[in-house]
Amino acid sequence: MRIELDQPDARELFWEGLRDVAYAAARHQDQALFQAIVKIGRAGMAQGIEVVSSNGLFLQCPICAALPGQHCINVPSHPLGDRACHPERVELAAKALSGEAPLPPPLR
Ligand SMILES: [Zn+2]
Repeated sequence: MRIELDQPDARELFWEGLRDVAYAAARHQDQALFQAIVKIGRAGMAQGIEVVSSNGLFLQCPICAALPGQHCINVPSHPLGDRACHPERVELAAKALSGEAPLPPPLR
């Protein structure tokens, strides 16, 4: 399969692949896979791949406590709308992967 690096959905594909790894890591509670997510995510961001809203799925949500691989749930004062993740969770994932914040569980 030939990959066009400038194809418009390359960014989504990249994170979708990592999300699949996150599902497997959460299902098997596999720390090595979580560490692989950090490595791949950091390398991707270093190459200029921007975060997308599914990034938050890699870690536990600080707002609703959804576990890695689980979508967020509505909680009072933090409505989800049509998003899969709370914005705070996405922001935390972006900061953790870029090194701006310490890695939260289970990425640590
Ligand atoms: Zn949440």
